[in-house]
Amino acid sequence: MTTSRLTLIVAAVLLGTAPLSAQAPAHGESAFSPRVAEHPQVRQALDWIEAHFDDQVEEWIRINEIPAPSGMEEERGRYVAEQMRAEGLEVSVDAIGNVIGVRRGTGGGPTLVFAAHLDTVHPIDTDVSVERDGEILRSPGIFDNSASVANMLAMIRALERANLQTAGDLIFIGTAQEEVGLKGMIHWLDENEGVTDMLIAMDGGLGRIPYGALGIYWSWFHFHAEGSHTNTSAGRPHTARALADAIQSIFEIEIPVGRGGAVYNVGMLRGGSVFNAIPERASFSVDLRSVNPILLDSLQTEIERRVAEAAERHGVEWEIEEDNRMPAGGTEEDLADRRTHPLILTAEDVYGHFELPNEPVASGSTDANAGVVRGIPSISVGRSRGGDQHTLSEWAHWPSALPASQAVLVLAVSLAGIVDAPQP
Ligand SMILES: [Zn+2]
Repeated sequence: MTTSRLTLIVAAVLLGTAPLSAQAPAHGESAFSPRVAEHPQVRQALDWIEAHFDDQVEEWIRINEIPAPSGMEEERGRYVAEQMRAEGLEVSVDAIGNVIGVRRGTGGGPTLVFAAHLDTVHPIDTDVSVERDGEILRSPGIFDNSASVANMLAMIRALERANLQTAGDLIFIGTAQEEVGLKGMIHWLDENEGVTDMLIAMDGGLGRIPYGALGIYWSWFHFHAEGSHTNTSAGRPHTARALADAIQSIFEIEIPVGRGGAVYNVGMLRGGSVFNAIPERASFSVDLRSVNPILLDSLQTEIERRVAEAAERHGVEWEIEEDNRMPAGGTEEDLADRRTHPLILTAEDVYGHFELPNEPVASGSTDANAGVVRGIPSISVGRSRGGDQHTLSEWAHWPSALPASQAVLVLAVSLAGIVDAPQP
């Protein structure tokens, strides 16, 4: 602890305004209490968000209308960086395109990262103009994730306007390439090992509070053979038959009950170009998911074994092309200790205080996954109500972004600790 920090605490204690939470709360404890929400500067920040909520919704629309497919977040990122700079944050853009704004604490508190991904799944030529329909905003990307980007900027401004000083550093990141394997978040964590104590992804609808990581393996299975005209095809190595056989066999795998469970799907089929020949190449994709890393790997191995058998039965070559590999964070039992971490307990209390859904779940598929699998306490918090994400009919309920933005601010100051300025 630095001397100036100590002076502040001593001054605050003498004046009877001790910091609400100068140190990270102990394991098993929540850092939230109604005292935090009633703190005058917190009140001021929450009121500021409410008073400027119309502007926030306008900005949300503005952000959404800057196209930002994965890998092309630059322009949206530039807008976010400008806003962060205007609030006095230390702003930088890293090699992958993450926009990072640091708001220094006075020291002695935990460092928190808030991450809202900038990118969308929608191609660059998608019409992203926003249609306002009562309490609903409609546009591709409006829910996932421009809502969170707007919430994050509102939180930063409210902290500044209320002059809310925290003990811990707050690091705000507009992350790049979340939708294509959390690439921006992984890049930042790799480059900044040991920097953050907790990670809060701002992503997902208002609902449960995920603190785990759903492992997701995407694979292509390709079969190859010489091919042959239909007239001479009888008894020849057959890619289409191998493919059909492999898919049939995969769907006969019994998923064990419990152990975190698993789901999988064959989502794409490709191959062949004419009626009258054996395809030289036939392929299918598998999307396999589980929170249990052992189950995930054993199912992947079993799928590959069955593909190999099918290929052999039909005399064709096969190969696997690995796409996404998002590691699993563990089952509820594996994460029992994590469940009682102050991050999860505080989030549960804060979202409950705002009467928002607040049930922690040992799963998740956001930027927080990258933290979970590195052993960093990580959660994701919702941005608003909404639906049809990743589709052209995506929508969001704008009034619900107000309590969401207020809650995430209270979460930040509860965990990072509020430092009262010494009175003159
Ligand atoms: Zn998202």
